[in-house]
Parts: sequence; structure tokens; C-alpha cells
Amino acid sequence: MPKLEIKNVSLRYHTIEGEIEALKDFNLTVEKQEFISIVGPSGCGKSTLLSLVAGLIQPTSGEIKLDGSPIAGTTQKVGYMLQQDYLFEWRTILDNALLGLEVMRKKTSENVERVKQMLVDYGLGGFEHNYPQQLSGGMRQRVALIRTLAVEPEVLLLDEPFSALDYQTRLAVGEDVSRILCQHQKTIIMVTHDISEAISMANRVIVMTPRPGRVQSEHIIDFGPSYDTPLKRRESPLFREYFSAIWKELNRSDQ
Ligand code: ADP
Ligand code: MG
Repeated sequence: MPKLEIKNVSLRYHTIEGEIEALKDFNLTVEKQEFISIVGPSGCGKSTLLSLVAGLIQPTSGEIKLDGSPIAGTTQKVGYMLQQDYLFEWRTILDNALLGLEVMRKKTSENVERVKQMLVDYGLGGFEHNYPQQLSGGMRQRVALIRTLAVEPEVLLLDEPFSALDYQTRLAVGEDVSRILCQHQKTIIMVTHDISEAISMANRVIVMTPRPGRVQSEHIIDFGPSYDTPLKRRESPLFREYFSAIWKELNRSDQ
């Protein structure tokens, strides 16, 4: 059974000015432990799609199934990391990382220890009692990721997770995140506007059409087992090929 099935999903927003059709007949099946990247023009419905999978909004038509059952509202199985890190400046790094567990009333001493260990593993040991403003952008992003992972979601939704970071930091954090996610064996959907980032991390890249968004094309990414990190993948001769295929799709004039 696929982890996630998105079937003929359409979503119309109703506004004072009228209706906006954000998604139309969107179809995607995601297998367990796949890493899907989604690219597409701005405003094509990428964030809308993630909000639907997160159960924050309901489709106008069509259906979304998680483990074979329709999604009805938010669930602990799905973790959603937004574009901005949304750390609370008045909470320490540890308290920020524990926020999700606190909300779910699962802040047991065992879980607190687990989160403390994650902070150490992800290079934030010794920063537990610091505040977000004392951290670099890359470190903040890692705290946000730990907070999302702390509640142990099976599906992870990432909305342009690195867009606030400078190029150098993006590469480093991308490397970290990919290693972390590999260890956790999650099913991941990552929205990004960076084609290289999409190719370097995912096993499948979905290109969306302009609004109303649907799947325009799908690209299976397979660098072989020796290219096992984003940086190594960027060095592969195949990288250019994937890049130009996806670039062409995004710049097609007939859409
Ligand atoms: P993307 O993430 O691909 O840039 P979004 O999913 O954010 O696109 O938005 C898709 C379209 O829906 C855009 O035209 C946007 O203006 C519109 N939209 C998004 N959210 C809302 C909302 N809450 N109410 C009305 N329109 C919205
Ligand atoms: Mg968006």
C-alpha cells in the first residue's frame, strides 16, 4: 500500500474578489520512504498542496489517503515544517525543540532526553539554554527540524525549508538534513524553488504547471549507490542532465 495517495485533488479558495482555483486534478502517489521534491512557478499551489496533506484544509474535490485512510484533520503522523522557522524568541533552544511534544502532552522525561540527544547529534549540543537570536540561520533551521522530528512523524512536509539561508549555509544544512532524514527513514515531500536542491536530495522530482497546479512532469532521480549525499550528487555527470530536463519543463512555452 502506498504511504500517500493524492487523487484528483482540486482546491478552490473563496475570497471577496472571487474564486481562486489553486489546484486542479492533482494526482500523486508516494511510496513509503520516498523523498519527493516539488518545483513549480510561484503561486502554482505548492504550499496549498502541503497544507492539504497536513490536513489543515480540505480539498474541494478529490481525496487524499494516508496509509489507505482518508485524511481528516491534522495527525501526528504528518510533520509540517514551514518556510520560516517560527522559533519563539523568548523560549530557549531546548524549549523550542520541545514545543510539539508539549502541545501533544508528551513531554515525558524520556522524550526530553531524546530531544536533548538530537540537539547533540545535530551539532547543537551546548546551545540548549541559549535563545534563538543567538544562533545562526542554519542552526535555527536545524532546531525547527528537530522540533518537527521530535514528535516522530512518519511523513515530513518541508516548505522551502532552506530559502532563508545563504548559499553556503544551504549546502551545509542540506547535507545535514539529508543525513538526518536518511537515518530516520521518513517519507518526505519537499517544496523548493531551487532545481539543484531538488535534484540533490530527492529520488523523484515533480514539476507542477502554473495555477491551477497539477503535475506537469515527473523525473525519477537515480545517481546510483555511490552518490549518497547531496554534495556528491551535485558532482555527478548525471546532475546536469537532470537539471536541464527539469529546467526545460519549467520554462516550456506551450503551457
Ligand atoms: P505556491 O506555494 O506554489 O507559491 P500557494 O499554494 O501559496 O502557491 O498559492 C496558490 C494560489 O492560491 C495563489 O494564487 C495564492 O494567491 C492563492 N492562495 C493561497 N492561499 C490562499 C488563501 N488562504 N486564500 C485565498 N487565496 C489563496
Ligand atoms: Mg509557497
